[in-house]
Order: sequence, then structure tokens, then C-alpha cells
Amino acid sequence: MYEIPSLPYGYGDLEPYIDEETMRIHHSKHHQAYTDKLNMALEKYPELADKDLTGLIQQADKLLPEDIRLAIINNGGGYLNHSFFWSILAKPSDQDNQPQGSGIGSLIEQNFGSYADFKNKFKEKSLSLFGSGWTWLVLNSDNKLDIINTTNQNLPPAEVKILLGLDLWEHAYYLRYQNRRAEYVEAFFHVIDWKKIDSFLN
Ligand code: MN
Repeated sequence: MYEIPSLPYGYGDLEPYIDEETMRIHHSKHHQAYTDKLNMALEKYPELADKDLTGLIQQADKLLPEDIRLAIINNGGGYLNHSFFWSILAKPSDQDNQPQGSGIGSLIEQNFGSYADFKNKFKEKSLSLFGSGWTWLVLNSDNKLDIINTTNQNLPPAEVKILLGLDLWEHAYYLRYQNRRAEYVEAFFHVIDWKKIDSFLN
């Protein structure tokens, strides 16, 4: 049985950038619903319940029975994407929250020229996504950073390492930002836990 992870901060800790009500509903209702539906789909196939979920989804055609395939791709993806998303957020600090030091900070400079250029590229990519999905900062197999979009709850491709992900479903921002996705993306940069991202590079 999958369970939603508890958050390493309070629902209101990401204010004013992500509001308390959105965090509460997003975590306790939306993430819970993906998790419940994932568990329900797996009930019929208990032998799959302890298999690596990411691997199952990445090889869905081969490893998942057809009658639960789409349910696992959607709800297993939702379970994994949200679990990751919560883990890279942190209470905002007073500073402008740029990554410091030789880890992700210098990798961003090498790949995008500057943090500001990276931010612009990430924003552009987020705004180009039609409908619901995610924008990701990933490390390619050739050790280069890339910014990619995925639709629905699809996972980024298996060959990349995920460093950062932003939920662009309207449920993630509509209460505070309504249709102003650009403002939400800008706010997101204030609550990224860059130290956590650094730890993914080790
Ligand atoms: Mn979501």
C-alpha cells in the first residue's frame, strides 16, 4: 500500500508564494486521490505492489497488465510526481533564493549562462505547456542540463535524472493565481530548496 509522504514543512510555510489552502487541498486531497486510485489498481495484482513503481511505469507496455496500465500510468505517475515535488520545496528565506556554491549553482551557470537566463528559460517552457502537466529541470546522460515538459502525470524519460519539477495543473495554483500561471511560476522560484537539489548531484 502506498501512502502520501508527510510534508517536511507546514501547509502554511510556503506563504505567500504558495498559499496554505492550496497546499492543504493539493496534498491531502489531490495527492491522496492519486494514491488511493494507485492502490486500488494494484489490488488486483498484489505481485506488482512491491515492484519499483517508476520502473513499472517506464516499461508499462511490457510490465503492466492492460486493464490497469492507464490507471497506473496516471495515478502512479501522480503519486511519484507529487512525492518528488513536495521534497524540493522549502520555507522561503529572506534572500532571493539563488543556488549557492559549486553544485547546481555552477552547473546552471555553465549550461544557461546565468541564473537569470535559466529562470527565463524555465518560465518560457512552463508557459508553453498546453493543458495540464509538469516542467522539469533534468540532467541528461551527457551531463548537460535540460528543461522539458511532460503532459498529464507522465514521468520524464527514464534516461534523465530529475533535479527540479513544477506542477502546472491548475489545482496547483488556481486558488491564489487563477489564470496567471506566469505569476505562479515566478513564485515557485522563491520556495525551491536548492540545497536539496545539490544533494541529488552527489
Ligand atoms: Mn498536483
